[in-house]
Amino acid sequence: MDFRPFVRDIVDFPENGVVFKDITPLLKSPEALKAACDTLHGLIGELKIDKVVGVDSRGFIFAPMLASKLGAGFVPIRKAGKLPYKTNSESYDLEYGSGTLEIHTDAILKGEKVLVHDDVLATGGTAKAVCKLVESLGGEVVQCNFLIELTFLNGSDQLKGYQTEALLKY
Ligand code: 5GP
Repeated sequence: MDFRPFVRDIVDFPENGVVFKDITPLLKSPEALKAACDTLHGLIGELKIDKVVGVDSRGFIFAPMLASKLGAGFVPIRKAGKLPYKTNSESYDLEYGSGTLEIHTDAILKGEKVLVHDDVLATGGTAKAVCKLVESLGGEVVQCNFLIELTFLNGSDQLKGYQTEALLKY
């Protein structure tokens, strides 16, 4: 399936100068939603996965669906102050601004194989911080999996050494 018609560009969102890829047309189409989930699942291939980590907040859409298909658990990574239990945290730079991400300290066991999922790989700061959080608990990132990679922002440079897959590349 060609997913491009289901992703629209929003100019100057959330700030002037940013062209934001809006995935809500894809999400509201029953056919595109199912096909995207199946294709993302296909990108994982035969990798053994114990936990799928989803990134606050659009990473929470597909990560639990993938976890369910894989027979794996789902782990949310959230912006600072949102998780109720003990956390590890990591600060990062964004395409627009900066932030801190957190993971529960008991979310991943040492040696567990982890799939990282988010909607968009832009500059790669977010995904790199997520990988560091997984590794802070002894998890092994076996793939970084995205709906969209904005290749012109060179985010994959931040993810050298990690297998990176995306459904759509711009
Ligand atoms: P990065 O840290 O790679 O620069 O930014 C990736 C994060 O910002 C992801 O969590 C993603 O949700 C969000 N993001 C950045 N640019 C876009 C965009 O154009 N569209 C969407 N949907 N999310 C974006």
